[in-house]
Amino acid sequence: MVTAPAAHIPRLLGDSKLGPREQARQHLLTIFRGELQSGEHYELRCLDLSVRPATKGPRLYFRSLTELSDAAIRYREQWDVFFGVGLRRCPVAKDINACPHRERGRDHISRLPAAWGDFDLHSDGDREHGLETLVGKLLSGSPPPTVLVASGTGIHAYWPLVEPTPDLERVEAVNRSVKRLLGGDNAVDAARVLRVAGTFNRKYREPLPVQLLRCPHV
Ligand SMILES: [Zn+2]
Repeated sequence: MVTAPAAHIPRLLGDSKLGPREQARQHLLTIFRGELQSGEHYELRCLDLSVRPATKGPRLYFRSLTELSDAAIRYREQWDVFFGVGLRRCPVAKDINACPHRERGRDHISRLPAAWGDFDLHSDGDREHGLETLVGKLLSGSPPPTVLVASGTGIHAYWPLVEPTPDLERVEAVNRSVKRLLGGDNAVDAARVLRVAGTFNRKYREPLPVQLLRCPHV
């Protein structure tokens, strides 16, 4: 059970004055650099993780980061809100909104914009201290992550690329190295979705804020 709200975390790094919408915008803008290619979309996925099994909510595709971040904020009151780290493209349909496939896994990922790691706090000890230690460990990495997001129960760290790469295997190999070196979880595969900053983690009794902790412009 979560004992300390993630609201305590920013004090470790200096309080961010950014509102939720701007956190979502900065988070996504920093990760997705460069232009989309033909047929590519950003994916937003809503889940209700407060119930078991989780309920699936809207799954939406956008060509604009502003639309993506605005939608994340619109859905945050009701859902756990995630974005696809990989850019989505249907191998058959020109427009992914006309995709005939129910399963849209790795074959629907065209490029990856960043390497990342998912770091959960498993201990029942002092949560704030645990997060502080974790942030310190991540920032001592070489190179340190450019973006840190408090996920509510841990931290998502990102190393954005200059532009997205179609070499999914290479990014997954980097993700596995990050996991091995820094002790992350198994969220290494190209089809992952991760939480959007400025939303809520509703997996536990109290919704926990998902917060942007580190970003070049924050
Ligand atoms: Zn498809």
